[in-house]
Amino acid sequence: MPSLTLAEARTRAALLSDVSYDLELDLTDTGSFGSRVTVRFATTGPATFLELHGGQDVTVTVNGTPVEAAYDGSRIALTGLRTGPSEGNEVVVEARLPYVTDGAGMHTFTDPVDGERYVSAYVGIDITQRVFACFDQVDLKAPITLRVVADPAWTVLSNGPVAMTQADAWEFAPTPPIPIDLFVLCAGPWHSRTFDHGGLPMGWHARRSLADELDRDFDELRRITEQCFDHYTGLFDEPFPFDTYDQVFVPGLNWGAMENPGCVTYRDELLPRGRVADVDRRLRAVVIAHEMAHMWFGDLVSQTWWEDIWLSESFAEYMGFRVSEEAAGFGGAWVGFHLTHTPRALNADRRRSTHPVAPLPEDVPDVDTASTNFDAISYVKGASALRQLVTWLGDTDFLAGVNAHLTAHRFGNAGLDDLMDALDAASPRDVRAWAELWLRTSGHDTIRVEHDGEVPVLVREGCRPHRLLVTAYDDGLAEVDRRWVDLDREPVRLDGWAGRVVVPNAHGETFARVVLDDGTWSAVGEALGSLEDDLARSVLWCTALDAVAGRDLPLERFLRIVERQLPTERHLGIVAAVSDATLGPLLATRAPADRAAAVHELVAEACRAGLRTGGDPSTFTRALARASRDADELGRWLADGRTDHDVEVDAPLRWRVVQRLALLGVLDGADIERERRRDGTATGDLAAATALALRPTAAAKEEAWTRLDADDVSNRTFTATATGLWAAEHAELAAPYVRRYLEAAPRWAARGPAFSIVVGEAGKTFLLDDAQLGLLREALEGEVPTVLRRAWEDALDDRT
Ligand SMILES: [Zn+2]
Repeated sequence: MPSLTLAEARTRAALLSDVSYDLELDLTDTGSFGSRVTVRFATTGPATFLELHGGQDVTVTVNGTPVEAAYDGSRIALTGLRTGPSEGNEVVVEARLPYVTDGAGMHTFTDPVDGERYVSAYVGIDITQRVFACFDQVDLKAPITLRVVADPAWTVLSNGPVAMTQADAWEFAPTPPIPIDLFVLCAGPWHSRTFDHGGLPMGWHARRSLADELDRDFDELRRITEQCFDHYTGLFDEPFPFDTYDQVFVPGLNWGAMENPGCVTYRDELLPRGRVADVDRRLRAVVIAHEMAHMWFGDLVSQTWWEDIWLSESFAEYMGFRVSEEAAGFGGAWVGFHLTHTPRALNADRRRSTHPVAPLPEDVPDVDTASTNFDAISYVKGASALRQLVTWLGDTDFLAGVNAHLTAHRFGNAGLDDLMDALDAASPRDVRAWAELWLRTSGHDTIRVEHDGEVPVLVREGCRPHRLLVTAYDDGLAEVDRRWVDLDREPVRLDGWAGRVVVPNAHGETFARVVLDDGTWSAVGEALGSLEDDLARSVLWCTALDAVAGRDLPLERFLRIVERQLPTERHLGIVAAVSDATLGPLLATRAPADRAAAVHELVAEACRAGLRTGGDPSTFTRALARASRDADELGRWLADGRTDHDVEVDAPLRWRVVQRLALLGVLDGADIERERRRDGTATGDLAAATALALRPTAAAKEEAWTRLDADDVSNRTFTATATGLWAAEHAELAAPYVRRYLEAAPRWAARGPAFSIVVGEAGKTFLLDDAQLGLLREALEGEVPTVLRRAWEDALDDRT
């Protein structure tokens, strides 16, 4: 399949104008769906093309004349077009298209609880063409008028309000001009909670089998929505740009959420059963605020080409953390940012694949390359850069520039230069020089604390100016002082702080690696848990995680910090994130396979110590359930339905316990099947798939492989099964499958870029010894699709 190139997109955008779509989707047949689109446009050239992926029985009519042989399986050649200044063209394309289970296209899902069927068009970069024939590029924004034929008992949601319904048909009002990759359709027997906010119809929707969960959380979801909405409409001059604001928890979405104008989709794992942990509620609030920010950044004003995805994602990421804290009452949102996000961005900046936050368009030559850049650089580093920009520029000037930008390009497209024009006009500072260093240059700076005698001196390696808070502590990490520092080429002496423990960027205003001296590591090892300030603790944990990944801090020294300081940790997000990171990425990339069991044991002991000394029972128990190798302890919890510290074993916790017991060889296939039946939901099916693959036998691993290798395996089943197959504690059992994975993955990846990401992610999680790293290097010398190649190179770089 040809991947749209920058040159093609530029040529087509220069020719075309006044594009609009009249779209009819017929979902009544369960084998395939009907797609009929009328595309209207003006052009100054006689020829161009539409994209349509995988169409059957395709018919094309151009200005009333049927055209034979125009379709080659991925593109429809259009020739003989009218090019006069007042002449329009009308192309009608009818096709049958396949449903998918990989979250890229018309995704279909049958709920095991009640047998209900849900059909949703999940599009995104290069995917809309799997739903209807279109000019699949972001700078040909167009109004879409949608008609859907479906089961009359269903609810159908899309980017705007329903204008008219008939027995089995829904007609939506034309949208304002929207990016083609943000079209959405969600059809099925949704459980809906709707409300009105300031005259705008809003709603939260979930599968009918999740009605109790939606009802349980509805008040909070509505409150967050309304508070964020009011906050954004206060921050921005441009009013909310669309006519509805629906939010839907959907099955099988590949992303955390998708910012479709007027109708945001969220992966329905964000609506879990049981008790929603505070750390998950906070994360969900950040995602809600992130997606709403996109209504302005990305939807109202969109990038022209994919080099500028940071203009959507960095802004939404920054606003998500800022606004969930400022407006929605989730104090300490930035604590989570430093724990779960910043280490990923620093890591991404060490890989060969690193790139500037804002690359040049030529560095993103086609949409496959663009698909690889939805990464920690575009999201996290970009958000950090914006936080630094606000610190450096001041919020007033920043918002004045942003507002001028949004107004100037409303319902249009814009790039870095346009934003710089607006910020430049709003600020006396040299914003362009700042952007050159912060946005156009890849790699991270490093900030070190050195000493002139006893006096600490801050030194920057790199190229960027930093404005940051520096904090001084005594040896027990009690804060004694803090000061703002502008750090550039010249080192900065911190007079008055002789002999103090000094932590630069303890509140995270800037983005840089921080290298601490040995004395500071000693203080951290002794006293991190007693440091008062949650944010500073999160930054220090982040610094420690990054130091292990960057090989500044030996793994064993980090593990001693976990052993001593995790039990005294009182911030629930820190407990969860540190244990997850230790058992996840750090173990996969920095520990030899024969240490895996011992590292699990160490984390488990730290959690037990936390429970003994009065730590939050729920949080430490959940972390313990992921690490424990004590079959008696886990078996007791399963039998009693309560843990030793009286935490109720709800469905999510029960599955963690079942999975550990499966890994330890205590539960067999029949036990797991009993648990799956007892659960009866889609989440239970996936948890059981992981548990089955975790069983420590060669037969179980082979069974897991067969699941992965099935032609129609869903994206979620693939991930759930791979997670079990590659368990770090069974590296020797999984070893034969490394070669098989490397051989099969390019074939699996042929399903498309979105599934390639799923396949590639699976390759990042398993332990590789030297021989297997050799296999990976060898595989990279062959033909590997762009998106998969990127994942594999990243996996290699993280381990070497
Ligand atoms: Zn986003």
